[in-house]
Amino acid sequence: MTVRDQVSENEQLRAEHEALIQFLYLAPVGLVQADIDGAIAMMNPISAQLLMPLSRCGGLDNLFTALESVAPDLRHLCLAYDRPTGKICDGLHVHLNAGSTGKTGKKTPQILAITLLKLDAQRLMAVIDDVTLQVRRERQLRQNDAWLNAILTGITDYALAGIDAEGAITEWNPSIGRVTGFGEDAVGQPYSIFYPPDAITPERLLDRLREADNDGWSLDEGKRTRADGSSFWGSALIAPLPDREPDGPAYCLILRDITDKREASERRRREAFGDYLTGLANRRAFFEAAEQELGRSRVVPRSTSVITFDADNFKAINDRHGHPGGDAVLQHLAAILAETFREVDVVARIGGEEFAVLLPSTDLPRAAVVAERLRSAIASQVVHFDGSRIRYTVSAGVACVDNGEGGIDLLLKRADQALYAAKRAGRNRVERWRPELEGTPARTPGPLPQPEGTSDDA
Ligand code: GH3
Ligand code: MG
Ligand code: MG
Repeated sequence: MTVRDQVSENEQLRAEHEALIQFLYLAPVGLVQADIDGAIAMMNPISAQLLMPLSRCGGLDNLFTALESVAPDLRHLCLAYDRPTGKICDGLHVHLNAGSTGKTGKKTPQILAITLLKLDAQRLMAVIDDVTLQVRRERQLRQNDAWLNAILTGITDYALAGIDAEGAITEWNPSIGRVTGFGEDAVGQPYSIFYPPDAITPERLLDRLREADNDGWSLDEGKRTRADGSSFWGSALIAPLPDREPDGPAYCLILRDITDKREASERRRREAFGDYLTGLANRRAFFEAAEQELGRSRVVPRSTSVITFDADNFKAINDRHGHPGGDAVLQHLAAILAETFREVDVVARIGGEEFAVLLPSTDLPRAAVVAERLRSAIASQVVHFDGSRIRYTVSAGVACVDNGEGGIDLLLKRADQALYAAKRAGRNRVERWRPELEGTPARTPGPLPQPEGTSDDA
């Protein structure tokens, strides 16, 4: 080797040495090199900073002495280690009492994780890391877990379910079993399994998730079903989860059995939104529910239909059987309407002998089929009142809008135009709105000749 080679090799070694020193200075953890008895040969600034509170007289010359008060076994551990090289301890936690003062004013202990490596028979390397925050976070997580567990096993009238971005239940837990009776087979099914059949359309199911995204939560109250088909009155709160895993739950559903509270709130609701004679929704409830649904269908495009029903020649029924007889007919009609339509449909009495039904996610042909079924059912039935058998018929108008266009006023106007087309065409019929009806009256066409036999007196 020439002198020149020797010089360049030395330079290279010096450069490597400098890089190593730089690494020691910049490393985000404490690094200490000591001999096998703990005498410190070299340490980086972070380890000096971390170990300084432990040094009694301001000097830091022996690792074991420095850590004596918090890790008294370290020296022994090292002596007992009989392999020529390897990890003597891995992430040993030591608690330093002289920690920083936390928010509460209490001293929070600082926690160091110490890893001790035996490099060879003479040398040790210690890696020292401040894990105070990490430990605190882990403890917080464990505590939250314990809380959640206590809630899941302890509460009796709440069910908590995770649901994914499509509204499917992601996992089962005992609270679901307790409140709804559903077992593990609920996993993967849409959360609408907790609702009576027909009480929630697939579109509405997704609307609620979107509502939760926009508003932070979505709450609804109503009839819910258990696995055995029995029903209870429940509230369902959906809230988006902050940290979503790709395959994990995106929302939390809190289902609560509020059957007990229902009585009082239902009474108040009925008073404000119910029709005193028939128990159906009143005009106000109908308009409110319709505006909401049409608003949603503007966001997520779909068809909404309205059917209006009007009892035919109702004045004649009143004249013949008196007002109470007329009332009995209205109650009969209301009962058939209530049992024919889905839970998700809004059936309301919007006038004296006029009723309207809002059908979410329903197109014109489908709505017309239901209207026709209802018309023919009524025509074949008899109302028993005060020893009389009253027969009556209804006319119906059906209209449909896409994507909430024009709002409930337009939808109702068109349904009424169709209804009065049905009246003009002879009553006891269903008419669908069509563009030719644009501009025709949506009011009663006035007195028409009364047909014979609106009643068979018994
Ligand atoms: P059309 O086939 O054209 O609908 O004829 P109609 O006789 O049914 O229509 P009209 O609108 O002329 O009459 C409605 C009647 O309904 C008049 C009103 O006295 C009666 N009515 C309104 N509200 C009630 C009620 O709550 N109970 C009873 N019994 N009758 C009512
Ligand atoms: Mg009428
Ligand atoms: Mg009328």
